[in-house]
Amino acid sequence: MAAKILNALKINTQSTLFFWILLAISVFGCSQSIFFVETFYAKSIYPRWSGALNWLFGWIPFSVGDIIYMALFFYLVFKLIKAVQFLIKNKLQSVFRREIGRVLLVRVLQIYVYFMLSWGLLYNRSSIEEQMGWERVTPASVADLHALRCELIDSVRILRNHLGSDTVLKKPNWKELQVNANKAYDSLHKQFPSLAYSNSTVKPTLLNKLGKYIGFTGYFNPFTHEAQVRAQLPAMALPSVITHEIAHQLGQAGESEASWYGFLAAKSSHDLLFRYSAYMDLLFLVDQALFDQDEEYRNMYVGRYKAEVDIMVRMDRKQYLLFFLNEETNFSSWVQDISKATYQTYLVANGESAGLASYQLWLHWAVHDWKKRKGHKN
Ligand SMILES: [Zn+2]
Repeated sequence: MAAKILNALKINTQSTLFFWILLAISVFGCSQSIFFVETFYAKSIYPRWSGALNWLFGWIPFSVGDIIYMALFFYLVFKLIKAVQFLIKNKLQSVFRREIGRVLLVRVLQIYVYFMLSWGLLYNRSSIEEQMGWERVTPASVADLHALRCELIDSVRILRNHLGSDTVLKKPNWKELQVNANKAYDSLHKQFPSLAYSNSTVKPTLLNKLGKYIGFTGYFNPFTHEAQVRAQLPAMALPSVITHEIAHQLGQAGESEASWYGFLAAKSSHDLLFRYSAYMDLLFLVDQALFDQDEEYRNMYVGRYKAEVDIMVRMDRKQYLLFFLNEETNFSSWVQDISKATYQTYLVANGESAGLASYQLWLHWAVHDWKKRKGHKN
């Protein structure tokens, strides 16, 4: 029996391993060329491929990707148990270990090749400066951050007043959020053809519990191209998370790039909640940057925050922070530590050298854009 399995493994692995190694090297070679990625892949191949997957999975009301991930998890656990049983039974013979190692290597190469061809190549697109037609962007200065903060505080106060006097913001239904997100991207696409266009569908994730423990608010599935968001998030956060995930779907793999286009889409929306969500997101980042960089601001933070920020806005922010605080348990904190470290490695391996901090790089682009717009007005 064991000899039969060994022969089958040999035939399978020896004939395919070489092929998959060659293919993986070729795909890696292509991923290193920004010209290839931007000209051929991002603008031509990706929109068609993504459109086909959206046609295939978009109409299904639940996330197929979530189900695939769950099934894959149980399949891998089952396979792992089987493999351990098999190895123990055959006294861990080195010849078996070698063949099983080859089978695993082929599987890993297959996943890598599919991931890269399906979406991963987009990690090496041209810079945001080139996409936006900007010259070099310099880091935001403390003075600029203060000036932008003043404007944002005004904008969020006005928007919040228009959103009604309910202390807890009303959550729109899912369909409404999706329609508004697509409308926001409709107008943005005319300005930025670098965004692939498709009628996006965003689905509430079935993995809400996992999101709570791992600490994600939404995610894009690079294998099915579905965008999933945790529907349980507070109303204020939903639009910016949805527009962020759609940006991934439209061909922006980088986290800051996705946040930037998500912000642009949400702030140009006709829907007040989308605009409020976008500006609140930016205000968070500006506050955080000032807190880190300006000692005087840091020392007076609590007093200034209470005096300057509208009470309804403060209540929304408090609810947002409480949402995540209430989810924290001893179990979730160590699971989150592991998942953060894993995700950090994933981001760095895909060229996002800033790792998790790359989520915040778009602040400098937002300040640069804001200064340019002000310059045009004056
Ligand atoms: Zn993202």
